[in-house]
Amino acid sequence: MKKELKIPRIKDGTVIDHITAGNAVKVLHILGIPKSSSSTVSVAMNVKSKLGKKDIVKVENRELDPHEVNKIALIAPKASINFIRDYAVTKKHKVKLPDEIIGIVSCSNPTCVSNAKEPVKSRFIVISKDPPRIKCYYCEREPEDIADKII
Ligand SMILES: [Zn+2]
Repeated sequence: MKKELKIPRIKDGTVIDHITAGNAVKVLHILGIPKSSSSTVSVAMNVKSKLGKKDIVKVENRELDPHEVNKIALIAPKASINFIRDYAVTKKHKVKLPDEIIGIVSCSNPTCVSNAKEPVKSRFIVISKDPPRIKCYYCEREPEDIADKII
């Protein structure tokens, strides 16, 4: 497993592999790193792979929750998430964008009902999974940069 040595192996935690090259920083942002997390994190960017270049993020002592996995799917649709325990992969799964995104992304239209004071949760229809494209269920606006609008 020589190619795994590009960044250090971790004992416990999560490895997010096959991130669209250049998007590792956005993944860190979604995970609240470094602001709200003290986990040790390793990042490899532009790693050569069979399918072109990719980024890899390894987060020690932390397992992502399904909500975070959904957010990652929005900016890294090919990502695979590996949970690591004692250096071994215990669970491996590919992120999958659902057909609808509720309460994860805010609408870029300031007059959208989902941005009004009433408690209406934002709701987006996924119109393309790769590259990810979504449009607002209420006003049909498409965010220009999804990562920017993730709540
Ligand atoms: Zn809207």
